[in-house]
Amino acid sequence: MSVKKYCFDGSKKLSLKKIPTNSKQDKVEKEEILEKTAENQAKISALQEKLYADGREGLIILLQAMDAAGKDSTIKHVMSGINPQGVHVYSFKAPSSEELAHDFFWRIVKCLPERGKIAIFNRSYYEDVLGVQVRELNKTYHMADRVISQDTDTFYKKRYGHIRAFEDYLYENSYRIVKIFLNVSKEKQKERFLERIDTPEKNWKFSSSDLRVRKDWDKYQKVYEDVINQTSTADNPWYVLPADQKWYTRYLVSEAILSAMEAIDPQFPVMPQEERDRLGESRAELMAEKD
Ligand code: ATP
Ligand code: MG
Repeated sequence: MSVKKYCFDGSKKLSLKKIPTNSKQDKVEKEEILEKTAENQAKISALQEKLYADGREGLIILLQAMDAAGKDSTIKHVMSGINPQGVHVYSFKAPSSEELAHDFFWRIVKCLPERGKIAIFNRSYYEDVLGVQVRELNKTYHMADRVISQDTDTFYKKRYGHIRAFEDYLYENSYRIVKIFLNVSKEKQKERFLERIDTPEKNWKFSSSDLRVRKDWDKYQKVYEDVINQTSTADNPWYVLPADQKWYTRYLVSEAILSAMEAIDPQFPVMPQEERDRLGESRAELMAEKD
């Protein structure tokens, strides 16, 4: 099953209601998927070493989702097998007062990876058009009247434009962004919340405020759909991945990452002839050692 079917590059419109949250439609075998995921992980790991050595493109893996969709466990899984020297994870929580006193890309820009490295964004600047839009936080911002007096639609349409421009800017600066929305069902979220409540070791993952967000489920779905439709482009597409079964989500995530890395096609640097000659000299010197 190709992940392409879950990829939105602006050429087709996303209707979230029509997109599956589980693997049923794809008629896949769990055992087979687990094997393929392991193979993909090995390929990602090998390509990451090349990406690092090559240093020509930077990779940003960006995850957005409703609570309990599996962002954290997906990240844990993606990280395993990757050399920790080449990857950083950043979680963007509710902004601090210092962050709120700046433009919304400010805290993000500080976390952009250098070329050759991978940054994983657990939430991102998309929060500034998602939760912020649903909760109408723009009205509470300490900003000039000309900015916050705009009607909601205008304010967020402009932000979508800023995001498209920012992502295009990154693309043209030799970055690629793998944007992933983990599409979990409302029923599965309930099940996972109950598990968090009933398992002492998982209590810390639950916050009563998660229920407040859940009450706005439909509003969030609508805003997610809008945001994805407005920010899906050929160079920076969105993946909307079924998230009700973690084993399937992980496979699709690994496919999406692999496809970006294969497109980058990193190469080990070839040593200039002069330096290679010097290698020969060093070799001869080592061989000539007496003890
Ligand atoms: P998660 O829910 O991502 O697994 P967590 O439970 O450890 O992480 P939270 O304290 O819930 O962490 O932090 C995420 C919260 O931060 C979310 O409620 C999200 O809406 C909020 N948040 C993130 N970015 C922004 C933003 N730019 N403006 C307002 N709220 C934001
Ligand atoms: Mg949370």
